[in-house]
Amino acid sequence: MTDLIVVGGGPAGLMGAVAAAERGKRVLLLEYLPAAGRKLLASGAGKCNFTNILEPEEMAQRFVVNDRFLLPALRNFSSAAAREWFFRRGVPSFTEDGFHFFPESRKAADLLNVLLDECRRLHVEIRLRSEVQEIIVKNGAVCGVTVDGKAIYSDAVLLACGGRSYPKFGATGKGYLLAEKAGHKLLPTVPALVGLKLKESWGSSMPGIILPSAQMRYGKRSGRVGELIFTHSGISGPAVLDLSGEVNKALLNTPEVQLHLALNAEYSKQDWQELFQKWRKENGKKQLSTLLAAEFPAQFVQLLLELSHIPADRKAALLPAQEQNTLLNNLTALPVTANGNDGWLKAMATAGGISPEEVKANSLESKLVKGLYFAGEMLDVGAPCGGYNIQWAFSSARLAAGR
Ligand SMILES: Cc1cc2nc3c(=O)[nH]c(=O)nc-3n(C[C@H](O)[C@H](O)[C@H](O)COP(=O)(O)OP(=O)(O)OC[C@H]3O[C@@H](n4cnc5c(N)ncnc54)[C@H](O)[C@@H]3O)c2cc1C
Repeated sequence: MTDLIVVGGGPAGLMGAVAAAERGKRVLLLEYLPAAGRKLLASGAGKCNFTNILEPEEMAQRFVVNDRFLLPALRNFSSAAAREWFFRRGVPSFTEDGFHFFPESRKAADLLNVLLDECRRLHVEIRLRSEVQEIIVKNGAVCGVTVDGKAIYSDAVLLACGGRSYPKFGATGKGYLLAEKAGHKLLPTVPALVGLKLKESWGSSMPGIILPSAQMRYGKRSGRVGELIFTHSGISGPAVLDLSGEVNKALLNTPEVQLHLALNAEYSKQDWQELFQKWRKENGKKQLSTLLAAEFPAQFVQLLLELSHIPADRKAALLPAQEQNTLLNNLTALPVTANGNDGWLKAMATAGGISPEEVKANSLESKLVKGLYFAGEMLDVGAPCGGYNIQWAFSSARLAAGR
């Protein structure tokens, strides 16, 4: 008899196994791939941005889901606690920008090795190439799992199977089916932290062009200010990724979603108006395109003038009010139409999955099945880019397993 069976050897599963074993529990971890932590190794381009500077309260507000669900886990094992935990085990972290934290060695493998070493030290049994096919539930309580048709018994199971993105790292989505069979409702899953395809043909006409301080708006929600990168099929980059999961959820019900882009979010409409006035006075003889090229890549300026119906040789002093208005609107809220995304092979996370409404926030135990716990990306929490996903994997796992 095992005290806890952990399904999945990603950051959530490994940290959950360690947290339970620290409390003297006998833990069995089952991982379907030949090695644990494949996605963790690839994270942050191999450097692993595993957390950020934010305190739990502020961090929780940046997720899509209500912060009441997140706070017990994030307070129980905060960003500061995660950094301290790895530091004490020989992996100091560092931040270049004062926000994102990485292992000082810039190697995701160092984090994984600590987790694996702790598993060894605490006698966690890890079985690789072991795909869990079913959760055994009797009378509303967990009794174990099946692997290769054989039952393994335990009255506690932690599901930490991850999502669907990057299937080559084990994210097949099969974990969701285990929860579904056990009685949980599965919210539709879509790629998140992923580039979006645009309907506008100009959207794919300048791959590689970058707007350094753009912001994407979707309805009332504003994404982060950051780089927006034009791709072969649309837009990507930090300014796009955080809201992409929500946009893709909407695309399940409608073929197109209207978005607006602030092309330089550091400038308000009034700032642009003042700049136009200054240009008119001081650089009236210069072409608008030359002046705008100080703000944006030249190829993009050409397009912006076309979209604003302004002749390419328009002088700054001779900009008619109507043209100026159109330009202002496009600079601050250029309408674009999302009609798809770059797919699971490129998405860094999953939106949708296990609904937090069916899970107790203070223990992450299922409200439907006694002894069934959840951690990590399986839960539909909507973590943005920037160390939130791995911090959530660690925090949720320690809350779910460390009691
Ligand atoms: C390219 C890339 C870069 C990323 N960079 C960052 C970053 O820098 N910072 C950040 O915070 N996040 C990053 N993420 C997201 C982050 O890696 C994930 O959110 C995180 O790994 C989720 O952890 P998890 O343990 O929940 O799931 P996973 O890491 O996906 O682990 C789940 C494990 O469960 C196993 N499994 C699934 N089903 C079964 C089953 N039935 N039986 C047995 N085992 C099973 C899988 O094989 C897998 O090993 C990145 C993601 C990608 C794809």
